Amino acid sequence: MKKINKTLLSNITVLYVEDEEMISEEVSFYFEKYVKYFHVANNGEDGLKLFKELQPDILITDIQMPRMNGLEMIKKIGPTSVPIIITTAYSDIEYFLKAIELKICKFVIKPINLINMILDVQDCVSDSYFQNKLLEKENLLKIVDENVLISITDKNGVIIDASNAFCEFTQYDKDELIGKQHRILKDKQTPNSFYENIWNIITSGKRFTGEIKNRKKDGTEFWANLTITPVFEDNEIANYIAIRNDITSKKKLEQLIIEDDLTKLFNRRHFNTILNQEIRRVKRENSTITLVSIDIDHFKKYNDTYGHPMGDKVLYMIGKVLKSNTGRSSDFAFRIGGEEFCLIFSGFKSKDSLLHVQEIINEIEALEIEHKNSENSDFVTISAGVIIQNAFELTDEETLYKYSDVALYEAKMKGRNQVILSEFSTNS
Ligand code: GH3
Ligand code: MG
Ligand code: MG
Repeated sequence: MKKINKTLLSNITVLYVEDEEMISEEVSFYFEKYVKYFHVANNGEDGLKLFKELQPDILITDIQMPRMNGLEMIKKIGPTSVPIIITTAYSDIEYFLKAIELKICKFVIKPINLINMILDVQDCVSDSYFQNKLLEKENLLKIVDENVLISITDKNGVIIDASNAFCEFTQYDKDELIGKQHRILKDKQTPNSFYENIWNIITSGKRFTGEIKNRKKDGTEFWANLTITPVFEDNEIANYIAIRNDITSKKKLEQLIIEDDLTKLFNRRHFNTILNQEIRRVKRENSTITLVSIDIDHFKKYNDTYGHPMGDKVLYMIGKVLKSNTGRSSDFAFRIGGEEFCLIFSGFKSKDSLLHVQEIINEIEALEIEHKNSENSDFVTISAGVIIQNAFELTDEETLYKYSDVALYEAKMKGRNQVILSEFSTNS
């Protein structure tokens, strides 16, 4: 015996057309227990009107009725995908034959067996109901395909499919992507370790979420919020589905807020944030922090000699050297004011920090940027003050900065183009 599908029935709209009040009431009484949207008409004319109004999921109708009989009503409705059930008595046999031409879904012979009839309704509706759901799903897939940046790889990371949105956004044809790896979008500055980390996470069956910088076909960079989900088949990873959200404009804004315009190093605002963050991290991890204050030597004279625009170029070149010497994820370089810079390292021993800063000083002099009015070199040079403290001795941000600044002042006093370690540094 078939079961009544209450969920299905409670979601459909039924139009029932019957002129005999007793039958109509009996059927309604029973159906209304299951069907929330159950509407009744007493003749074909009203039935037709209600049909147009309600767009029901199913029409149940008697044949012989006053004013307009059931078959006329069906003819007037015209071609429709709405299933139709006809309730009929044996005496209606000639109508019965006509009804066949009208592609009637089912005939229910009177007297009506209510349980059978509700199961019939269920049968007729479920096909079109689920077909509609499927249609919705197809629609959904289409919307997703056109709007979501999706790419699918096999278990080796080879792209096997991509959404239209993904192709359009990255400027690649689907053919150009299929068979390739996501490396095709790689930004050269992103270290391989970043990708290795992702690969380790997803091959272990976990989902990866994070921000990634990628490049389109024409080289334009974009930022994406990337989620890669492994898809399992028989307990083994079969595919990876990658979904990207374009966050380029958000990133650009973020960048503007923390970046110095001229050198592209972090700015003073970000210095405060990072110094605070790194102090807390160093305390937590029982590590050491190095803060370096840097100032260009005789830079006023440089400007006076070569002009302010040339001075700006020097600032940019020095910024580049500082950036290239702060490549680890725990290294930071800032331009905190006119010709003043700061570096933050963590985890270094004092000897190593000093050596590293000395290397930077050498590297800048080795740029051989002519500075004929400098009193300490033929070229542009910098001076630096360094404070290194471990987690136990670590003071607050202001004191730390003051110590490195005092050390910088000492470096200036001692003849410039050198680094001085603050006396308040931890011995190690
Ligand atoms: P010292 O060796 O003692 O540091 O001497 P100095 O001349 O470098 O120091 P001072 O602080 O007297 O001068 C800093 C100069 O830096 C003054 C200013 O012309 C220059 N400066 C500050 N900001 C900028 C900038 O954005 N662009 C350029 N081109 N010059 C700048
Ligand atoms: Mg200065
Ligand atoms: Mg200076």
